[in-house]
Amino acid sequence: MQLTEKLTINTPSSVQVITPDWVNNKIQLSIKRDDQIHSIISGNKWRKLHYTLEQAVTQKTKHIVSFGGGFSNHLHALGYCCHQLNIQFTAIVRGDYSKNLSPMLQDLLDWKTDVQYVDRVTYKKRTNIEYIQQLQKQYPHALLIPEGGSQQQALQGVANIITELPQIYDYIIAPVASGGTLAGLIKGVSTYSPTTQVLGIGVLKGQGYLEELVASLLPNSQAFNNWHINHDFHFGGYAKSTTELNEFCGDFLKQTHIPIEPVYSGKLIFALKRLIFEEFFPANAKVLILHTGGLQGARS
Ligand SMILES: *Cc1c(COP(=O)(O)O)cnc(C)c1O
Repeated sequence: MQLTEKLTINTPSSVQVITPDWVNNKIQLSIKRDDQIHSIISGNKWRKLHYTLEQAVTQKTKHIVSFGGGFSNHLHALGYCCHQLNIQFTAIVRGDYSKNLSPMLQDLLDWKTDVQYVDRVTYKKRTNIEYIQQLQKQYPHALLIPEGGSQQQALQGVANIITELPQIYDYIIAPVASGGTLAGLIKGVSTYSPTTQVLGIGVLKGQGYLEELVASLLPNSQAFNNWHINHDFHFGGYAKSTTELNEFCGDFLKQTHIPIEPVYSGKLIFALKRLIFEEFFPANAKVLILHTGGLQGARS
């Protein structure tokens, strides 16, 4: 397919069985390496953008606008894709980093992104209909993509993950921030693997809010009862970390040779370790971790 040739996307990603020392023999633990799909396009961000970018190429879209924070994996992935595909990209960034560029923003500038810094009040309006209409007027030929790439069109790209699996799992676990990844997994499981439960780990303080986000992305959300979000492992909020969590990430790398970072997969796998310890999973459960990528965010 034309788009994946231009971007050299390595799918299907591999699945590895792992045995860190905190896994007992009552659980079969595997990890799907979506972090290896591409060196820059962070795993789940590719999954979410796949069909939107395909459409942009088919329709010869000239300009894309999207939103994110100063370390956003989404803006990073999308900025790179637009650069490769010759599409002008405008990134609306929360907060002014102009005097203090993150490595992510430096990359965007190298890729000729038009970076627009907005204050927090303006950024809050990113889903507000009038604000979106105003942006669409300002950029009449642009395709606007929501924060994190989380929109209904993203779900099938994520659901494709399930079609790549070598066996049926009892649980698939993934981090939750803007909800598109979890919604896509829920949809994919209900279509391709209906006995699998999807367990999300909230990486920000969002009890109630994250469930609403996920449900709002699912068509006919009441029809799905195969998912749950755990809120006990946000470590105080988005991108907040502790020495214990940082050390856990280092230890996991040492034991498995798989890199993780504290914003997403660190919290996810830390939670998993605790849940195994608390015997949350039934005996002989087959548990699959989705490694969503995101290692660029840990550069600073
Ligand atoms: C964006 C991101 C997430 C969160 O996914 P959502 O679809 O926004 O919930 C998880 N992991 C990584 C590495 C990410 O970059």
